[in-house]
Formats: sequence, structure tokens, C-alpha cells
Amino acid sequence: MKIAVPKEIKNHEYRIALTPTGVRELVERGHRVTVEQGAGDGSGFADAAYEAAGATLESDVEALWKNAELIVKVKEPQPDEVARLGAGQTLFTYLHLAAEEKLTRDLMASGATCIAYETITAPQGGLPLLAPMSTVAGRMAVQAGAHSLEKAQGGAGVLLPGVPGVAPARVTVIGGGVVGENAARMALGLGAEVTVLDKSIPRLETLDDRYQGRLHTVYSTADALEEAVRESDLIIGAVLVPGAAAPKLITRAMLADMKPGSVLVDVAIDQGGCFETSKATTHAEPTYVVDGVVHYCVANMPGAVARTSTQALTNATMPFIAALADKGWQRALAEDRHFMAGLNVHDGQVTHPAVASAFGLES
Ligand code: NAD
Repeated sequence: MKIAVPKEIKNHEYRIALTPTGVRELVERGHRVTVEQGAGDGSGFADAAYEAAGATLESDVEALWKNAELIVKVKEPQPDEVARLGAGQTLFTYLHLAAEEKLTRDLMASGATCIAYETITAPQGGLPLLAPMSTVAGRMAVQAGAHSLEKAQGGAGVLLPGVPGVAPARVTVIGGGVVGENAARMALGLGAEVTVLDKSIPRLETLDDRYQGRLHTVYSTADALEEAVRESDLIIGAVLVPGAAAPKLITRAMLADMKPGSVLVDVAIDQGGCFETSKATTHAEPTYVVDGVVHYCVANMPGAVARTSTQALTNATMPFIAALADKGWQRALAEDRHFMAGLNVHDGQVTHPAVASAFGLES
């Protein structure tokens, strides 16, 4: 199959959909992979590495798209990219269509088959192609929080692990899913005193079991949140209510009870944020201060560690890309109902129920 890997053109997106290692696997299976010149630069993968892996480099982006049967990307297609898509082509990427009616309608009009990473499911539950980026964001959240606690960043001047004779900082993670567990694990590793709040008892049981008493688990209630606000040096927001905006769990009034220079990291900002005072920030200017509390609310945290993120993404997407290339999308999806859950648009129709109902497009 002819597979194209374009350079990502969304603002500040440095990832690429395939590493040279991924290209090699596909080439060894007999597929032709064409990579846009310079597409790997942002992730530290040079053109020469793609050539050595068996890819053809292409500088003419129109030709790259036109000659492809399967296009693999990272972010949703931008308007120029949608214009290049046509019937008979398959697009495999993050799409997040439920919040993007224009893009949904443009993809319908393209006639292409569009499969979204984020709606593919797994037999054991969860979203296997979303999880790697949540893992990255959860681990980064503690790095970002620790840095924000430094005096020069507006923080209280607190070192997460403390030192002998000085108690460690208190970290509260709200939401103990993929982001939350990874954040908790990093904070524990640094020696902080860590509490996870969640509404799911089974989730709290799993965490309690896994961390053998090193992690405090607390059922998330208004009382528990108020205590977290009073006691914590760093609070990480990591909740997700599938298909809904994040609930506002810490209000502006509650900031008055926080210690001056304490830090809020709102990882759930891509779903609107779980703190009332959160507004999306960028890696160029990641933090701002409200009522003496430092806020870090970067909406695309994995972008800052593009190389690790690209490798993690390719590890997760490779089996699916290989199945699409080896079998064609019809057979690959027909044989795997979890992969089928990724199909969002085909032949001018929205095929994913949640996306269709978001825009009244149910057939
Ligand atoms: P997840 O589904 O694995 O975990 C979410 C957890 O939140 C669940 O355990 C759930 O029980 C819990 N929860 C729901 N409502 C709650 C409440 N009121 N109080 C306490 N806990 C509650 O989701 P995830 O993959 O960990 O993602 C978490 C958030 O991080 C999502 O909004 C996701 O979009 C976001 N995210 C952001 C970035 C970024 O760059 N900013 C990157 C990856 C993920």
C-alpha cells in the first residue's frame, strides 16, 4: 500500500505520525512509505534516518497527498489538508470531531474514509491511542508543577521532596485515571506526600492496591476538595467525564483558602479545565497567577516533549497502521470491532454515533 506521512502544519505541533522505526516495519512488510521532507525535524528524526529506514522523501506536498492510499498524521487535518483529501483515500489521525462541526462536514464532503485514533477502544476498556498522550501529560504535570513552585516562577519556593529535617510538599491529584496515576507516580518518585481523589471506588481500590499504602486515596467530595485546597502545595487536575466538559471542582472563592504561591496544574484544560480560574495557555507562556495561586494550563502538554511523544504514539498506532496497510481498511476494521470504533467518516456519512448525534447527523 502507498502510505504518506505529511509534516504537521498545525501551530506549534512538532510530532510526526511515524518514527523511522515504524517506517522500517511497514517497508519490510512490502509497503511504500513516502515522508514529507523535514517532517521529522521537530521530533529530532532527520530525513536521512527515514531514507535509511526505506522511506522515499517528497518535497512536493500536493504530490505526497495525491499519490497516497493511506495518510497517517498526528493532528486533525487543517483546511489546506482537507482540500487535498479525496474519495478512495484513508486518513488515520487524531480527529476530535465532536467539537468540530465544520471539519466534520468538510471531511464528509471529501469522500475520504476517516479513522480517528481517539475513538478506538480496547478489549480491556479504555482508549489505547489516547492513553500514551495522557501518560506523557500526567508525568509532565509534576515536572511543570515542581518548576512552578520555584520562587522565580511566582511559586511559594517549595521543593517537592523537602530535605532531611524539612517535610516534603503535599501534592493532590484530582482524578486517578491515566493522567492522574502517572502524575501520582512521578510525585511519589520525587518524594512528595501524595493524595489522589476520585469518584470511582474501583479506581481507588486499584491505586491503593498498586501503591501499597504509599499513596493516600480519598473519595472525591466537597469536603475532600476543601481540605485539599487548604493543605496542598500542588494540585493537579486530571478528571475526565467522557463526552462532557470537565466539572469545575475548584472555584475562584476557594483560591482564598490556598497557601500563597501554591500551584494548580490543570491537565483537563483540553476539556475546558476543572478549575474555575483556568484558561488555556501555551508552552511559550505556560503560567499566570490568580489571587496568589500559580496556574499552569497548557492544552497540548505532550508537544513540549515531541520526541518522546512521537515514539510513544508510534508504539501505540503501529499495529493499527500495519493492519490497515496489510489488509485494507474494510477487512482490518471488519475483523476487529475495537478498531471499527475508530471509523468516524466514510463515503460522505458520519459513522460514529457520538459525532453524528453531536450534529444531528444520525442516519
Ligand atoms: P481517564 O478517564 O483515564 O481518568 C479520568 C478520571 O477522572 C477517572 O478515574 C474518573 O473516575 C475521574 N473523575 C471523573 N469525575 C471526577 C470528579 N468529579 N472527581 C474526581 N475524579 C473524577 O482520563 P485521562 O486519560 O486520565 O485524562 C484526564 C484529562 O486529561 C482529560 O480531560 C484529558 O483530555 C486530559 N489530557 C490533557 C492533556 C494536555 O495536554 N493538557 C493531555 C492528555 C490528556
